[in-house]
Amino acid sequence: MEKVFDSKTLTSILSESSLKDYSNIRIGGKAKYLFIAKRVSDLSLIITQANKANLKILPVGGASNILFGNVGDRVLILDRDIPQNIAFKRDEIVVSSNYNINAFIDEMMKHDLGGLEFLSGIPAHIGGAVHMNAGAFGKSISSYLEWIEIISIKGKREIIQKEELHFDYRKTSINGFIINAAFKLESKPEKDILTEVQNIISTRKVRHPYDYPSLGSTFKNPAGYFAGKLIEECELKGTRIGDAEVSKKHANFIINRGNAVFDDMIKLIELIKKEVFEKKGIMLELEIKVIN
Ligand SMILES: Cc1cc2nc3c(=O)[nH]c(=O)nc-3n(C[C@H](O)[C@H](O)[C@H](O)COP(=O)(O)OP(=O)(O)OC[C@H]3O[C@@H](n4cnc5c(N)ncnc54)[C@H](O)[C@@H]3O)c2cc1C
Repeated sequence: MEKVFDSKTLTSILSESSLKDYSNIRIGGKAKYLFIAKRVSDLSLIITQANKANLKILPVGGASNILFGNVGDRVLILDRDIPQNIAFKRDEIVVSSNYNINAFIDEMMKHDLGGLEFLSGIPAHIGGAVHMNAGAFGKSISSYLEWIEIISIKGKREIIQKEELHFDYRKTSINGFIINAAFKLESKPEKDILTEVQNIISTRKVRHPYDYPSLGSTFKNPAGYFAGKLIEECELKGTRIGDAEVSKKHANFIINRGNAVFDDMIKLIELIKKEVFEKKGIMLELEIKVIN
């Protein structure tokens, strides 16, 4: 283990594996510091030690929205092996940030609690979804959020009420590692929730390319437009650089046809931005997080 981190105080693993193994789009190389966190208490230690060494941290959930390039000295911390839990506190449900969003929706359904069905089918963890203010079909996760518990970038455990945070289109002011999130959900019969979940998943399967790895929507929708439609109108569907391809099903999705690498993705992203700007006069903004 590198000197920056004191191995005696940590049960978490400093992994040698490639980020490709964790990335939803199957792209990425080795990181200098890739932690597979095992305990919340370890998170504080890792973050404090990283902070002391002036290293930035990057929380990683489902890695369904991150394109990994050369991550340099960043301290990447995967949440997947931290114990998961759900607790009912009065009318709030407190869930650990590493819960898969679909598993959470399914679990809540059993208690006749719904609302988050619009997120069904996305390969996100709760923490990533909250950090990104994930949304679909005109709704976003922040509408159901009450508060979050984070490990701050100084390594301190803090509760932050929703009112103290800023939520925008796929953007929040959250700084730190979310460890828990509290939601107020809607009372709904289980069968209604199930029907809605099934409908959402069917709609997604029709509209989105689920047969290849991707990061979902590459670009944000510019005000008054759909990024996918703009890209399609520029006749870019099916455009391919290396194994990165503009999906023929949904032009705002870039898929990995097999062995796409970071540079293929970046070149394709730049090509799309250039074409859309030249033909439509609109500069697309990335929705995905590029870490390079
Ligand atoms: C097929 C497909 C469909 C998709 N559909 C949608 C959709 O309908 N709507 C939508 O909004 N998105 C969609 N996405 C994109 C993606 O799933 C969402 O952005 C999701 O919220 C990311 O969650 P994650 O856990 O994978 O986060 P990651 O990709 O792991 O991280 C995303 C960002 O959140 C940060 N982060 C992650 N965990 C934490 C944490 N615990 N604390 C603090 N910060 C954290 C990361 O540092 C990073 O900046 C889709 C993706 C795919 C592949």
